[in-house]
Amino acid sequence: MTLNSTVLRAELDQLKLQGLYRTRRVISSPQGAVVDIDGMSVINFSSNDYLGLANHPEVIKAFKQATDHYGVGSGSAHLICGHSQSHQALEEELADFTGRDRALLFSTGYMANLGVITALLGRGDTVFEDRLNHASLLDGGVLSGAKFKRYRHNDLQDLQNKISKDNGANRTLIVTDGVFSMDGDVADLTRLASLAKNNDAWLMVDDAHGLGVLGGTGAGIVEMQCLSQQQVPVLMGTLGKGLGTFGAFVAGSDVLIETLIQKARSYVFTTAMPAAIAEATRVSLQLLIKDNWRRDKLNQLVKRFRVGAEQLTLPLMQSDSAIQPLLIGDSERAVKISEALLKKGFLVTAIRPPTVPMGQARLRVTFSANHSEQQVDQLLDVLSLVEPTINI
Ligand code: PMP
Repeated sequence: MTLNSTVLRAELDQLKLQGLYRTRRVISSPQGAVVDIDGMSVINFSSNDYLGLANHPEVIKAFKQATDHYGVGSGSAHLICGHSQSHQALEEELADFTGRDRALLFSTGYMANLGVITALLGRGDTVFEDRLNHASLLDGGVLSGAKFKRYRHNDLQDLQNKISKDNGANRTLIVTDGVFSMDGDVADLTRLASLAKNNDAWLMVDDAHGLGVLGGTGAGIVEMQCLSQQQVPVLMGTLGKGLGTFGAFVAGSDVLIETLIQKARSYVFTTAMPAAIAEATRVSLQLLIKDNWRRDKLNQLVKRFRVGAEQLTLPLMQSDSAIQPLLIGDSERAVKISEALLKKGFLVTAIRPPTVPMGQARLRVTFSANHSEQQVDQLLDVLSLVEPTINI
């Protein structure tokens, strides 16, 4: 079939018919527990700004001061002339924070995941990925040219069976989300790490949704589950969620980081994130370490929501994290409920395939330390009103 506008239009129409068409909402306020959409204030239960740092005055101040000093653009890739003192300092602080030898900044999490997997693997190698891994991890696996195998979600027996059948791979990498982004449950890293060791494989963990939120100091799932650099040799984290800014990093041994600097194409061939972003992130990192109350409050809000949602018999999924999806199933119905909630002043995004498997569309409810208990109760109230359309 030739590539032309008629063909593209037909594809778009098909997506509409399937309830899979995506549109953007234009926000005119800062990120926060309440945002303005089309002139209407709505309570926001869709953001990944779990600790409420995206619009924190001290983070903003650091960003402004660094812009005065460095300007806006970083000018080039890190390896040319874009690597500033602020980038360097942030890398050292992130390595300390996560208990790793070194860390390397990437411009986005998507690029970090593509870069790492393609730098570590090639033809003749094998990558094993949890079925529900983030798209960037799956894409990285495919792009690497390694044999690409997906195991059933959090099913270590299935993983072991697949590894046992895979004879003769040069290198083996097991890749998992730490906190699963659309489900909110966590990987059993202790068992995954020993399975990796027994099979002479490396384990890579994407802790985009655990960093800042899990662990005593917020150092994420590896802190919560007490996992060393030997157990999780490749740790990836993002800065645009719990840390409230933008970008990502990979942490691990010196030899891992040097390998990525030489070989990760999405590191080598792209412009460095602005230095002011790094400087703002340094401040949000200090805030999240110091302010334990943000994690405590987030956990309290999540518990409050779960108790209320259970009373309403809402289709909660098994999750203790800030991600509390309500499983709806049908995509169109998920969109209709999300639209009904928006009309009542609540932003709860419907997540549909291909982000989640077919028939598993859901409302992805997320919480922030900036929400109040009253806002959680308001959400429960409105969900109880639309409940007949949820529980059919
Ligand atoms: N990994 C996971 C698990 C994610 O949820 C996301 C973002 N949604 C990413 C990676 C990509 O990070 P970024 O948005 O910084 O590209």
